[in-house]
Amino acid sequence: MYINGEWLRSEPTFPVSNPATGETIGHASDGTAAHARQAIDAAQAALPLWASETAYFRSSILYRAHGLMLDQQRELAELMTREQGKPLKASMNEVKYAADFLLWFAEEAKRVYGETIPSARSDQRFLAQKQPVGVVAAITPWNYPISMLTRKLGPALAAGCTVVLKPAEATPLCAIATFEILAQAGLPAGVANLVTSAEPAPIGDVFCTHPSVRKLTFTGSTAVGKHLAQAAAPQLKRVSMELGGHAPFIVFDDADPEHAAKGAALVKFLNTGQACISPNRIFVQRRILGPFLDTLRGRVEKLKAGDGMDPGNSIGPLINEAAIAKVDRQVQDAVAKGASLLAGGARLTTDGLDAGCFYGATLLSDITPDMLIYREETFGPVAAVVPFDDADDVIAMANDTDYGLAAYVYTQNLSRALKTFEQLQFGIIGINDINPTSAAAPFGGMKESGLGREGAREGIEEYLETKLGGISI
Ligand code: ADP
Repeated sequence: MYINGEWLRSEPTFPVSNPATGETIGHASDGTAAHARQAIDAAQAALPLWASETAYFRSSILYRAHGLMLDQQRELAELMTREQGKPLKASMNEVKYAADFLLWFAEEAKRVYGETIPSARSDQRFLAQKQPVGVVAAITPWNYPISMLTRKLGPALAAGCTVVLKPAEATPLCAIATFEILAQAGLPAGVANLVTSAEPAPIGDVFCTHPSVRKLTFTGSTAVGKHLAQAAAPQLKRVSMELGGHAPFIVFDDADPEHAAKGAALVKFLNTGQACISPNRIFVQRRILGPFLDTLRGRVEKLKAGDGMDPGNSIGPLINEAAIAKVDRQVQDAVAKGASLLAGGARLTTDGLDAGCFYGATLLSDITPDMLIYREETFGPVAAVVPFDDADDVIAMANDTDYGLAAYVYTQNLSRALKTFEQLQFGIIGINDINPTSAAAPFGGMKESGLGREGAREGIEEYLETKLGGISI
């Protein structure tokens, strides 16, 4: 753990395992509620000085951290592949994406503008100034174990907040490596603190109830996000929530079915489907269903699962046994209710994969609303195709979910693309595009997918308060 500028190893520790092999690759301190309080006290003590530093100073540290992260891209990516499982190339991309947030917010730090506002009184002036919200508590997930940290740390530190962060119990080593970079970059003691733990709930309770914490930022499941938002409500702490998703991927019959299927294969199996923006229902207009499925099936069958350290493998393991069980339950349920299984559909245990958590890349068609997969987030390598006939019906079908994070649309008709963009109740929409994410673009969900936005110009606002001065002259 990293508290008040010092590395701390407490006993007991908990083991961290490689999901591809089951091997223990390291240990992390099993931090307690007392450690969380200690870290918050350190962040509170460091706040006045950090908040009063110039934006240029804070920016310079983030720039340095950005450079260090790129210098260490390969080592960080290898650690990520061993701890989280994604193929090394995907880990390299994630480290770059993580560094992008440090760079973006190093730049945004200097653009925290206020304003002067005309008054109705000639003897009065209004001055609105932005200030940091204060101590931030952050809870992060395992699926993107470095970029989800910098997406919070970058803007919080740029704004002048101090931070206490608890990473997911599956990926504490990536979090430790990220904090090593902040320390190397010269971040003053207490400004960012790391508490690892095998048991998240007691730490979460402290984050939600400690009076010094003014803001909670969380990325994870909708169930935990709701629990934390409720726990933070009595003190009216500000909250940002990046929660689950159930992305529709709509392919209209004026689109090129092969191009759309390639896109679907690329985005669906990214990170073995363990992404909150992963397509969960692929709606395909029936006239082009045949060529779409042929192309998608060809792609799915070529995906080779295995240890992400081997460059021949394009799909890594799921994070743990519970994830395998959830995916398999959804697949079995769909097949039992009449879905067509076109590829995969089972755990992989041969060719040396028996020690890891591997599930075969799976393609299902004829998915209907009564199936679990139509509503529940899958977080696994299953492409679920829902044929549709009428273009007028599909928007309502796509919006028929409590989630509202990402959606994808394939069409060559500009008017249809824009109308669909406007009608979909989702925060992030790819239009003939499968990668609508960037440090420069606002990321976040509607409905039960979350509150607030990360990245972009908006990202830093989440960590700022507006203070008004009314001045008589
Ligand atoms: P997932 O199901 O994808 O693992 P979670 O929402 O359980 O998603 O985990 C996301 C983050 O939330 C992790 O850092 C995890 O430790 C943390 N977490 C899980 N349960 C709680 C809780 N009750 N209080 C605080 N944090 C929690």
